[in-house]
Amino acid sequence: MEGKMKVCVLTGKQKLEWVERDIPQPGKGELQIKLEYVGVCGSDLHFYQEGQLANWTLDGPLALGHEPGGVVSAVGEGVEGFKVGDKVSIEPAVPCGECEDCRKGNYNLCKNIRMLAIPGERDGVNAEYCVHDASMCYKLPDNMDTLEGALIEPLAVGMHATELSNAKVGETAIVLGSGCIGLCTIMSLKARGVSEIYVADVMDKRLEKALEVGATRVFNSKRESIEEFAKTLPGGGADQVYECAGNRITTLQTCRLIKRAGKVTLVGVSPEPVLELDIATLNAMEGTIYSVYRYRNLWPKAIAAVSSGLIPVRSIVSHEFDFKDCIEAIEYSLNHKDEVIKAAVKFQ
Ligand SMILES: [Zn+2]
Ligand SMILES: [Zn+2]
Repeated sequence: MEGKMKVCVLTGKQKLEWVERDIPQPGKGELQIKLEYVGVCGSDLHFYQEGQLANWTLDGPLALGHEPGGVVSAVGEGVEGFKVGDKVSIEPAVPCGECEDCRKGNYNLCKNIRMLAIPGERDGVNAEYCVHDASMCYKLPDNMDTLEGALIEPLAVGMHATELSNAKVGETAIVLGSGCIGLCTIMSLKARGVSEIYVADVMDKRLEKALEVGATRVFNSKRESIEEFAKTLPGGGADQVYECAGNRITTLQTCRLIKRAGKVTLVGVSPEPVLELDIATLNAMEGTIYSVYRYRNLWPKAIAAVSSGLIPVRSIVSHEFDFKDCIEAIEYSLNHKDEVIKAAVKFQ
């Protein structure tokens, strides 16, 4: 496709604007993709609200959106295995493929990686079309749609966290935070055969969804203490604790919720870069801490898990907005956090 397209661009804190740009044409090794669905992510909300997230600060106009599902609309030179009309899920960060981390297979740690919707890297996909390296595009099977394709990105975060910490059959887990990433972590734990999954959040709607996708029991931290409950578990805590809220209070709780030799995995990304942990308790428990950075080598597995019915990823979507209402999708998600579990933008 050639011509003009609409793009929704963040031009400053809480300033989203519509602009018209040329539809990008695929270069060598690239696909042009017509977007069908883009998930609205917590990181989009942070860039919009605060103009920053973790160590990134907005430094110029940036299109948001990094959870894309769409259809191939043009195939660049030298690309094999794709044709116009194929449904695809896009892995949004493109690594250099040549540095030490890339060669080791840890390509998510590539220093030269170019991620969608990250300041100084690449524009996001709140646009009608995008071009992307074909090696980071994955064809969807017939029984999956492009909404599920868009949701592979957050699902891969949950899968990576549970793979790194090696959650196993029969273990107990506590998940702090039951937003999109918490729910994707719960579904990944369930798929790995973890038998008891306890979940804390402060929003009932999210906790109801947690129960629906596999939580054993949920705790609204406004009314009930997960710390008190954890003491009643065999061994006085859980085998695995996942921080999925990116929050100061829940991060401090993590080390107090594991049993001896338990594992803490920090999944959530906080708008504040520096947070506290209870190191004395961690030491007394001889616990292990895992940090996770996005995902790697997971798209085919995540697609297979959704296609086979093992992971009901689309059930986390609570709201859909038309692309023309993209600005409202972001503002509504921010202003109705108790109601919106996961929003997705749909293209006509
Ligand atoms: Zn995301
Ligand atoms: Zn690299």
